[in-house]
Formats: sequence, structure tokens, C-alpha cells
Amino acid sequence: MVGYAHQLETTRVTDLKTLNLQELEVLCRDLGIEKFRAVQLFEWMYRRGADSYDAMTNISKDLRARLAEAAELRPLVVADRQVSKDGTSKYLFRLHDGNRVEAVLIPEFFDDGVADRLTVCVSSQVGCMFGCAFCATGRMGFIRNLSAGEIAEQVVRINLDAEAAYGKRITNIVYMGMGEPLHNYQQVMRSIDILTHPKSIGLSPKRVTVSSVGLAKQIRQLADEGRTFRLAISLHAPSDVKRNRIMPINTSLDLGALKDAVRHYFAKTKLDVTYEYLLFQEFNDSAEDAKQLAAITKWVPSKVNVIMYNNVAGVELKRAGEDRLNAFLRELTRAGARATVRRSRGDDIDAGCGQLAIREGQPRGKSLSAS
Ligand code: SF4
Repeated sequence: MVGYAHQLETTRVTDLKTLNLQELEVLCRDLGIEKFRAVQLFEWMYRRGADSYDAMTNISKDLRARLAEAAELRPLVVADRQVSKDGTSKYLFRLHDGNRVEAVLIPEFFDDGVADRLTVCVSSQVGCMFGCAFCATGRMGFIRNLSAGEIAEQVVRINLDAEAAYGKRITNIVYMGMGEPLHNYQQVMRSIDILTHPKSIGLSPKRVTVSSVGLAKQIRQLADEGRTFRLAISLHAPSDVKRNRIMPINTSLDLGALKDAVRHYFAKTKLDVTYEYLLFQEFNDSAEDAKQLAAITKWVPSKVNVIMYNNVAGVELKRAGEDRLNAFLRELTRAGARATVRRSRGDDIDAGCGQLAIREGQPRGKSLSAS
């Protein structure tokens, strides 16, 4: 529980959207407002996407005014939205301080055109300090962490659009947008708690995937806390030599450290791990790479998501061709790995994470030295 009550004595709570349901209940109690109002506030923010107190029509004007005195309600503004021919929608959100983050709605359809999976890819930080060579966000450097409310609201807003367009709620959330989610551990966990709450989107944790470059300490922490969402590791290279070249984090947290962490994770949670593997032409797509990758999948029960890269201007690494993909997959499965392919989506829009924000002039921050 945050110590916001101390703030309350001297000043306002800066943003109502930093509070979870229990904290909203405490706020209501302190303001002499009935407890059930906390649930109403929670629903307005995290189910119905209210961006002002005025929108909360089942709360009286007088009460809204008292709440507005106690806490700001900072809106997340849709600054841009691009829709791809394949239905992928990319959102650029402007935060209260002018920073910008991206989120993506990725619809998948049954053969008859009815929506099947509706996945939201969400950002957890403005920029990122990890400087992966292939990533547009990495070039931006780290600006700041998002609050749990700022993370959750991306999903809530997109969910409203999904319901309007497809007549159903989103089905999956992946923390694979801008930022390294486990580098903003507390706020990411709070946002998951919010979004899996039945009064919010109410998704099962099993429908939530958090993707990490492999921060060993935090992976152990997830395991020790018994978190039951899905863990994906952004691997992208099957050896320390190659991984060091494209992911600076590997020089301090190498594959040995990652192996220990995922073994600890599996021992505690009994959950499979997914390895994300961007396939780059003539960098990590040889038969030998496939064999090394298959060996990694034996650390714990796991599967590989081979991902076709969205080329980023100015990045030397390029998407592997179809022939190399097919040969790689053959070798991978022959070596005993479970693998699926994720085709790139939104090729005709700025769908690579960070591209849209950079184009729109998002300022840059600090970074690990990128190769
Ligand atoms: S891939 Fe992820 S961790 Fe690496 S720079 Fe991009 S956002 Fe950061």
C-alpha cells in the first residue's frame, strides 16, 4: 500500500490512476466517502476508460468536485493511430508530461472473418536503456518508467476500440512494447493486478505475457512471488558471442546467468518459458545456430517463437528470407525444439516498436552502450 495518506495531509494525490482498488478505498474512507465509490472509480478508470471526473455520471457533481480536489485524473491522449491493411492498429499515446509511448492491437481472424484473438502489445517505459542493436526503442535511451495506471490505460483504451470494432473484449496482453518490463518491476506487476481484476478487463493471468531480455534477479523474484502469467525471454541469439554483439545486457548477464534464472523459475512455477527469436539474415539463421538454440530449449520445458523482423531504417540486421526461415525451422525441429513462427504484422505502418514515437520527435535519454 502506498503511503499516499501522508501526501493527502499536505497536498493532493498527484494522479488517481496511480491507485489500485484497495488504495482507492482508503482514499474514499479518508475523504468520508462511502466505500462502494472506490469500486465505481476503479471501473470508470480501468474498465470504461474515463479520462475526466465529468465522465463519471453515476457519481454526483459534489462528490466529483471533492475527488478532483483530492486527486488529479491525468488523461492519456491518443496522439496518432495507424491502421494496417492486415487490421493491426498502432497507437501513439501522449502522456501528461508530453512524453509518448506506443501500443498495438493485433487482431487475428477465423476463416469467416470473425475476430479470434485480440492481442494488445503494451509499453512499460518511455524509451529503454538496454540498447539492443535491432530495436528502435533502444536507440531512444531511457526517459522514465510508466506508472501502473499509464500502462493499464493503454490496454483499457484499446479494449474499448476493440469492443466497438469486433464486439468482444481483448483476449491477450503482451508486455513487448517500448521498454524492458522487468526493469519497471513494481509498476508492471501493479498494472497486471489491475488488468486481471474482474472489475477491470478481467483477463486471466495466463493470457498475459511479460517479455524480458533476461534480468535474472527479477525472473527469480517472479518465481518466488508465485506469479502465474507467462514469461517470454527475448533471446535473439543462441551463443554469448553473438548475443553480446546485438544485446549489450548479455555482457553482464550472460546465457549462464539466464539459464540459472529460468531453471529457478521453472522449479518454482512449473510454467513453460517461451524464447523469442528474431531471425536475422546471415546472422543467427544457420543450421549451427538452430542446433545451439535447440540446446537452450532443453534447459526447461519451453518453446521458441521465431519472429520475422520488421526492418528498421539504419539497422544493419535484416529480416531473413523465407528459404532461410524454412531451413532454420527444419533444423530446429530436427534437433528436438518446439517452434512456431510469428509473421510480422503491420508491415505497411511504423509497426516496429519505437518507430512511431521516434518519427514523432520523442526526445532521447540514457542507454547501455549499443553495439
Ligand atoms: S528490445 Fe526491449 S530491451 Fe532491447 S532495447 Fe528494445 S525495448 Fe529495450
